[in-house]
Amino acid sequence: MEEGKKPLNFIEQIIEEDLQANYTKDQLKFRFPPEPNGYLHIGHASSICLNFGLGERYHAPVNLRFDDTNPMKEEQEYVDAIKNDIHWLGFKWAEECYASDYFQTLYDWAVALIKNGDAYVDSQTSEEIAQQKGTPTQAGTESPYRNRSVAENLDLFEKMKNGETAEKGHVLRAKIDMAAGNMLMRDPIMYRGLHRNHHRTGDSWKIYPMYDWAHGESDFIESVSHSFCTLEFLPHRELYNWFISKVSKPGKLEPKQREFARRNLSHTIVSKRKLLQLVEKGVVESWDDPRMPTISGLRRRGYTPESIRKFADSIGVGKRENLIDVAHLEFCVREDLNRVAPRVMGVLDPVKLVITNYPEDKEEWLEAENNPEDESAGSREVPFSRELYIEKEDFKEEANRKFFRLTLGKEVRLKNAYIIKGESVVKNDQGEIIEIHCTYDPKSKSGSGSEESMRKVKGTLHWVSVKHALKVEIRLYDRLFTEEVPDGDKEKDYLEFVNPDSLQVITGYLEPSLKNASVMDKFQFQRIGYFCVDKDSSKEKLIFNKTVGLRDSWAKIQSA
Ligand code: ATP
Ligand code: MG
Repeated sequence: MEEGKKPLNFIEQIIEEDLQANYTKDQLKFRFPPEPNGYLHIGHASSICLNFGLGERYHAPVNLRFDDTNPMKEEQEYVDAIKNDIHWLGFKWAEECYASDYFQTLYDWAVALIKNGDAYVDSQTSEEIAQQKGTPTQAGTESPYRNRSVAENLDLFEKMKNGETAEKGHVLRAKIDMAAGNMLMRDPIMYRGLHRNHHRTGDSWKIYPMYDWAHGESDFIESVSHSFCTLEFLPHRELYNWFISKVSKPGKLEPKQREFARRNLSHTIVSKRKLLQLVEKGVVESWDDPRMPTISGLRRRGYTPESIRKFADSIGVGKRENLIDVAHLEFCVREDLNRVAPRVMGVLDPVKLVITNYPEDKEEWLEAENNPEDESAGSREVPFSRELYIEKEDFKEEANRKFFRLTLGKEVRLKNAYIIKGESVVKNDQGEIIEIHCTYDPKSKSGSGSEESMRKVKGTLHWVSVKHALKVEIRLYDRLFTEEVPDGDKEKDYLEFVNPDSLQVITGYLEPSLKNASVMDKFQFQRIGYFCVDKDSSKEKLIFNKTVGLRDSWAKIQSA
């Protein structure tokens, strides 16, 4: 293995073996095949990074294929959102394809199967068909319609297509083997009648192909070499191959289905169907609600494409399903934002600090570094004056020696400014502290190089000048579900585990340099966490989403 290169994962090993055997590099082609029935989620990010990552590694094309065979659930809005998300993640597809573009070809092939005696129209109800399936250990029963004549099958199938038969009157089934060990091979349904408008084909079709029939054939049409899907499709592989064998031509490469494990994330749900419920029931505001595990929700929350790609790469592909702790995702975004996010000061739970020996009408603009991780980020100026906000939790009247923040009689540094000493407090009638009075050492200014400025003090606090403060709305998020696996309990509905406190809205006070911040801009609020400007912001009122806190709980888990 070359130094610094990751070992091959099992999917890459499959490809390497194929290249050793009978494939040439320019035969390699992959696809990402979402069904446009919802917005993409973090689980899809794994599949996207896998397929497009292979494309990058082998310089092979990757198609974006919409698996749009079920008009009941699919919409153009979802198509647009999916394209947008993949773009944003930084990937480019070779071709934009739709299973619906192949409806005619699929139909013609189905007719050929009928002519060949490989498919027949079944006129039983779906209940009857289900009853005849048998069990894994017991063969199924053949349909009384199984030996219909080719002519009758062709006639009925055409009528189904034209909507001249009742919607649920018939289905087209592959004629395979009702005694097959693999139950999916027991005459699977290829087409069902559905008199529905399709978002792309309109009212042209009154029948729609089933997943198994459409998927492999679409791969074949597009000359996909490797079709990667999640493990639940493993038993479908035999059928995938059977369908392809029926249309394959000598000399044409047959796609190969291989399976990898679905990725699940703790304290959330990765299923479009269930996420749709959250939207429809108003548990969240929209698909891109910052609490959602959708790519669009994560984007709005302040995640970067790099952090999501890093996450997907670091968990890699596996053969077994497992649960990834959401803390790992948070670790990835924290690490990325630490590199790129400018530092600013903001106070989210303010108490007023009055510097009694600082002149009332004086103000100073002090230099503050934008990003200690990145010298090229430069510096900015922050206003300092007699009255400041600091965080309530940064002050205690009396404290033990482990409290390195402000107390009466002790010194701390105000970041980028001066050393101050707590002197007294002013309380209201309820005994709550409404002002802290302190004195400052004018010679202790940060960066001045004076002896006083070098003085060691235990703590450094962030602050904001009261009269310059920018008042903003802050949205704080917590996990959307209280349970690690909200849909893990078959007896209970996952909606029972929605965290009622997943959103808290507060007012924050920020340094004025933020007044021109734009939607999606990301910052580190020093000593607090990472925040990003929400699209609900207006000129009058900025709104910030908390992306993630500063504390690195994942590193602790890892090193434990
Ligand atoms: P959902 O139940 O959320 O709709 P799906 O698998 O039905 O998921 P598709 O749109 O069919 O969604 O998925 C497109 C691709 O993404 C498929 O290849 C699928 O296997 C993969 N995928 C979906 N969810 C995950 C996941 N949690 N982890 C890894 N890959 C996933
Ligand atoms: Mg699906």
